[in-house]
Amino acid sequence: MQQLRCYGDDRNKGFCVHCGGPSETVDHVPSKVLLDEPYPENLMAAPACRKCNNDLSIDEEYLACLLECVIAGDTAPEELHRAKIGRILRSNPSLLARLQRARTVGAEGPVWVAENDRVSRVVLKLARCHTAFEFNEPQLDEPSYLEFKPLSVMTAGERAAFESGDDALDVWPEVGSRAMQRMLVVGTDAFTEGWLAVQEGNYRFRVNHASGLAVKIVLREYLDCEVIWD
Ligand SMILES: [Zn+2]
Repeated sequence: MQQLRCYGDDRNKGFCVHCGGPSETVDHVPSKVLLDEPYPENLMAAPACRKCNNDLSIDEEYLACLLECVIAGDTAPEELHRAKIGRILRSNPSLLARLQRARTVGAEGPVWVAENDRVSRVVLKLARCHTAFEFNEPQLDEPSYLEFKPLSVMTAGERAAFESGDDALDVWPEVGSRAMQRMLVVGTDAFTEGWLAVQEGNYRFRVNHASGLAVKIVLREYLDCEVIWD
């Protein structure tokens, strides 16, 4: 990805973007467990305290493994497509057992029961990193809206609204912020219809500042996520 420096207000920098605590580590967004090697160059990152970074990594690992198992329709490490997830599950029997319990067979075939509180935490974490990185506007408050759902259960109308650019940029991002720079350099990254693909098939997102701050994320082309701060 193109490396962009943030020239925004320094008062919005230097603290954990999740809790406002000390800036002790760098939190990559997305976290590497959601991506495959080779990683994109210049991965985005935001400051985080050690506790938030560690706690959220465990949830991210869970979500990355869950998505892989759901997509593969199996929990057996040798049946998975992403080699990295196979390695994680081989070395983490308790997570593997947890995912095995998450798969049940319903009337219409196998279904997976996600731990929604953990998925919510990951979605919020990713969105907080994006608002800090793209707009230089960290959002420590709870969002006014947070939702995620598999793409396959969306109606055609919901899908079109989610994917479309119905979020025309009628408010301009702060001068110097990365979002402003991306407006000026559209076409240099994998920037399609307002979506920025960090890694094709694994992670894409779009941000919008038209009414509040909105972040949309698509994980594995399977799970659509949306977070809004009014
Ligand atoms: Zn923190």
